[in-house]
Amino acid sequence: MKLTGAHYDRAVGALLGSAAGDALGAGYEFTHPPQDTVIAMIGGGPFNFAPGEWTDDTSMAAAVARVAATGADLRSPAGLNAVAAGFSEWFAQGPKDVGTQTRAVLSHHDATAAEMTATAATLRGRKGGNGSLMRTAAVGLRYLQDPKGCLEAAALVSDLTHDDERARQACQIWSYAIRHAVLYGNFGGVRESLTHLGQEATDFWTPLLNGAETGVPQDFPKNGWVVHALQTAWYAITQADQSDAGHLGAALELAIRAGNDTDTTAAIAGGLLGARWGGSAVPARWRRMLHGWPGLVAKDLATLAIETVNGGKNPGVWPNVDVVDYATGTTASGPVMHPHDKGVFLAGHAAALSGDYDAVVSVCRMGTRTLAPDHVEFWLIDAGPTENENLQFILDDAAATVRELRAEGKTVLLHGVHGTSRTPSVAARYSMLLGQEPDEVLNVMTSSRPDPALWAAATHRPVRA
Ligand SMILES: [Mg+2]
Repeated sequence: MKLTGAHYDRAVGALLGSAAGDALGAGYEFTHPPQDTVIAMIGGGPFNFAPGEWTDDTSMAAAVARVAATGADLRSPAGLNAVAAGFSEWFAQGPKDVGTQTRAVLSHHDATAAEMTATAATLRGRKGGNGSLMRTAAVGLRYLQDPKGCLEAAALVSDLTHDDERARQACQIWSYAIRHAVLYGNFGGVRESLTHLGQEATDFWTPLLNGAETGVPQDFPKNGWVVHALQTAWYAITQADQSDAGHLGAALELAIRAGNDTDTTAAIAGGLLGARWGGSAVPARWRRMLHGWPGLVAKDLATLAIETVNGGKNPGVWPNVDVVDYATGTTASGPVMHPHDKGVFLAGHAAALSGDYDAVVSVCRMGTRTLAPDHVEFWLIDAGPTENENLQFILDDAAATVRELRAEGKTVLLHGVHGTSRTPSVAARYSMLLGQEPDEVLNVMTSSRPDPALWAAATHRPVRA
């Protein structure tokens, strides 16, 4: 299957959505935020994370993703050894929070995956923590075209630290659902996975999924346990408003309000939500803040996701290029000032390389080169809603981001490829957010020829701040 831009967006979303849920939930761990508490990426919590810093959930997920992104088979000894080595590398630098079971296993300092799995099997007591489910998203991306491989790999990666049949099945269900959501843009993979897992698993999980869809968090309160954690995530996904890309943020908030292990239930939910709605549904105000072990930011997670679904790194091919080589064509002459904000400049992609701005907002694909102290990218295709499932959400998010950067006192370059369609459209959305007349953008950007459906969406009311 040839992957489309929408597939890539959703693959990116699996890692970004999970990281966003994790960092969002970190500030509320072991609490039950009341209804009047605003849920924001505040950091803090019992382990005093920085705002936007992800926790063990995404760090361990990154350890899996780094291996998946090489194209390695996670079922092979080499692939599993590399994942196990990543877990050990993370553990060795003394992370703030480590799950009980994971700590018990990694404290053993096993050299191979086989030894790590054996150590996990020797643990006594309860072994069904949520610590393998929280890191399983990249497994779904690695086996996008191979459902059987996805189920096998999910079990083996879970077994590295969690010797538990329910943890294994939960990882299989969720990884399968994530690959399904990336491919088809829906949540049908959760139930469909059970058809591959046998009658016992179907009989066990079906009533639990039903209960999550109709119940309340008090029905599955012990969400440190993998079963209640999956139910909490599924509750949040199915009971939040699913009408547009705002579903991602709304469901993460529901997962966090359910309380207890909030970073992990939101990380679990976020992996599947992002796989369904795409990285473009993760608001830029969160993407700008995300960071964590091993020294990664949101863009790095996006690159790992794309490399994973491509079967490895392709040097010289996006996203592994310094600068994207856009064919020359109609290009707006030099940057022009936004008609309603003298700190915002509008142009084609070449202006982004000038280094003249505090912040660059790109509404087209860009390479790896650092363009400005602040660089925010939006996944916008030069077309209307048939090509951009999250079009209204993206336009509003981009306009809100320009406003946020300006509120921080930064000069902003807003640019697309040629500065003739996406650039004026987003600039017009920003005008509307400021309560101004969007058509004035066309008076200053005289080479504008915006895609009609895109322009119609950009100038459509109401504006969501
Ligand atoms: Mg955590």
